[in-house]
Amino acid sequence: MLEGKAIIVTGAGSGIGRASALAVAAAGAKVMVSDISQVTALETASQIRTAGGIAQIHCGDVSRSGFAEELVQATLAAFERLDGAHNNAGVETPIALITEIEEADFDRSMAVNLKAVWLAMRAQLRHMAKSGSGAIVNTASVGGLTAVPFNAGYSAAKHGVVGLSRTAAVEFAPMGIRVNALCPGLTRSGMTERLIQAAPEMIEAIMPPMKRMANPAEIAGTVVFLLSDQATYLTGQAVTVDGGATAI
Ligand code: ADP
Repeated sequence: MLEGKAIIVTGAGSGIGRASALAVAAAGAKVMVSDISQVTALETASQIRTAGGIAQIHCGDVSRSGFAEELVQATLAAFERLDGAHNNAGVETPIALITEIEEADFDRSMAVNLKAVWLAMRAQLRHMAKSGSGAIVNTASVGGLTAVPFNAGYSAAKHGVVGLSRTAAVEFAPMGIRVNALCPGLTRSGMTERLIQAAPEMIEAIMPPMKRMANPAEIAGTVVFLLSDQATYLTGQAVTVDGGATAI
């Protein structure tokens, strides 16, 4: 579904990002694997190569000003094109009431979960606007559509990702570029494993009608679709993949 395309995936060292990188590669794209962790990014790239896919890595902190531009340039240097991006790197924030959140934790969520998505899109859109085509998927969350009790910094940032994605979609539709937010529900990942340890009752309380968490691969299938030419009329949406959680 993605033959001939070159696609950036950030946060590709684990969880949804790794599953996305593997699925995008399996669908025929060349993948620029990026993560703050070189070790886990290398593992993802080697899994792609073992499966017969094509991957390069370029690692760094998505919240560092300048990194997004470097990542676009590295992709162009490696693959001579950029067709799509899955801006997925994210951090969880400590569980706390709004009145108890540490300012540094709120700032960190804003920097990595929200501002970095703008930095990434700014660099990607500048390039894609020149080429006249492209597709971007930004990982938000169902927490970007509804409240996340005891995680306001996360929810606020993810609501911001939905707003950024819709706005980019409207601004860049005339240039042939599609932008969507992806809103996964409860998904097995480093983040949710840590939450299960810290507050199992909280996870139980938010189990969706399907009564299980998603596997990252079940989220990645939607990423492939959104980046593909099967979705050429689909833009500006918050696409929810949540086992029915927001249906009730
Ligand atoms: P999920 O499955 O929801 O993506 P994970 O915690 O498993 O959750 O994955 C998040 C990924 O994002 C990790 O691989 C992590 O290293 C990466 N990441 C976190 N912060 C940054 C950052 N500032 N820059 C780049 N990657 C980051």
